[in-house]
Amino acid sequence: MNTKRIAELVDNKKQLFEQVGDKIWEASEIRFDLKKSADVLCDALASEGFAVERGVADMPDAFVAKYGEGKPIIGLLGEYDALAGLSQKSGTNVRDPRVEGDPGHGCGHNLLGAGTLAGAVAVKDYMKETGLKGTVIYYGCPAEEGGSGKTFMARAGMFKGVDAFFGYHPMANSRSMGISTLANYAVKFKFSGKAAHAAAAPDMGRSALDAVELMSVGVNYLREHVIQEARIHYAYLNAGGKAPNVVQAEAEVLYYIRAPKLQQVDAIFERVIEVAKGAALMTGTKMEMIWDSACANIIPNDAMGRLADKYLREYGPVELSSEETAFAKMIQESLTEAELKRPLAQLVGMFGADYAAEAEVLASKPVMTDVVPYIFSDVAMPGSSDVGDASWFAPTIMYTTACFPTGTVEHSWQWVACGKSSMAHKGMLYGGKVMAAAAIELMENEETLNKAKEEQKKRMGNIEYRCPFPADVKPR
Ligand SMILES: [Zn+2]
Repeated sequence: MNTKRIAELVDNKKQLFEQVGDKIWEASEIRFDLKKSADVLCDALASEGFAVERGVADMPDAFVAKYGEGKPIIGLLGEYDALAGLSQKSGTNVRDPRVEGDPGHGCGHNLLGAGTLAGAVAVKDYMKETGLKGTVIYYGCPAEEGGSGKTFMARAGMFKGVDAFFGYHPMANSRSMGISTLANYAVKFKFSGKAAHAAAAPDMGRSALDAVELMSVGVNYLREHVIQEARIHYAYLNAGGKAPNVVQAEAEVLYYIRAPKLQQVDAIFERVIEVAKGAALMTGTKMEMIWDSACANIIPNDAMGRLADKYLREYGPVELSSEETAFAKMIQESLTEAELKRPLAQLVGMFGADYAAEAEVLASKPVMTDVVPYIFSDVAMPGSSDVGDASWFAPTIMYTTACFPTGTVEHSWQWVACGKSSMAHKGMLYGGKVMAAAAIELMENEETLNKAKEEQKKRMGNIEYRCPFPADVKPR
């Protein structure tokens, strides 16, 4: 494989990729309503010769874009959704929304979508130049931050037949993530009772707020009797209003139920439903369940992890200009002492005391451009992603490149402020090169692909994917 040529293929079209990233940043759309962002990506893919199918799996802004034919089939998972309430002006180090209350790209999914585009286009151009056979598919996946677009795609059978998946994520470090995640169900419990004067006619009222509170009491007792690794959290979406003298007729609570394995979440979820039913029974109210999101745990793959790590080292670390370094430092001025210290503690926590000296050097840089050590672990990290649902169908790897200053965190306004910077663009193009080279190796080298597939088979055992969403749940 000509790795130098792959890098050139990305660099030759960097203007296109940067523009796409910036346009998605400008659009800042959330959940399933991603019209402008999907337009930008679909137009770019179509003009590059991909066959684009829009509106797949019952989601208007989900799409697949294919190039080539036959095996192997490589799936690249693109995301382009923003986060509610994180609107922020670009390039500043003070909190300053573009439009108060609007969404913003606080998880860098503008760079994720465009970096994945860079990977897809470079694979296509390389196939054209060399005659390499196979298929590359860009999956346009809505609602990663809430709604779980990939889970709906999995339910619609769209991941079947794929040989390997790549998921790239911009981050504040560069890392191949040979790890698992927690499966997660996010479900709203809505209780309906009867309003009445709380003093004059309390016997006529049935309180939905009482039901929500009793449900939480029940779940908090349940906590002691579930597996140690499980996580259950909740947020009140509707506490029934602001008038204590009215018996609350409506109340709603959103629950997340997480565990290392999908089947474990299933088992806990069944018991949470019983608790909710009990709360309704006790209060004489009605209970309704509304699904918000659901995703499976990631099936980790060491062979894929090593592959991504190899190309992270091949193309990295990126070199930042003095202006880019100064920009990172300027953003860092908005961080607290504790935030600035956190990366070092995290690195030592992840990679052990042997890495402490190197970690100290790395964490003192304004951007942690060096690739961190690769370690494989099938213990789930305390987070969830719908990349999990793709990973049940084929060997999958998620990897990151440093696009944001040291000490900044996911879902912050600082990430929004950095999302169009040349520092972030460099990290994004780096991410695209890694994706292209790793995908091309799988297409060229049957042995590498087979190794990853055999490992996948072993880890799956005889468990088959069962979509966590019931059949009647629709994307919304
Ligand atoms: Zn994200």
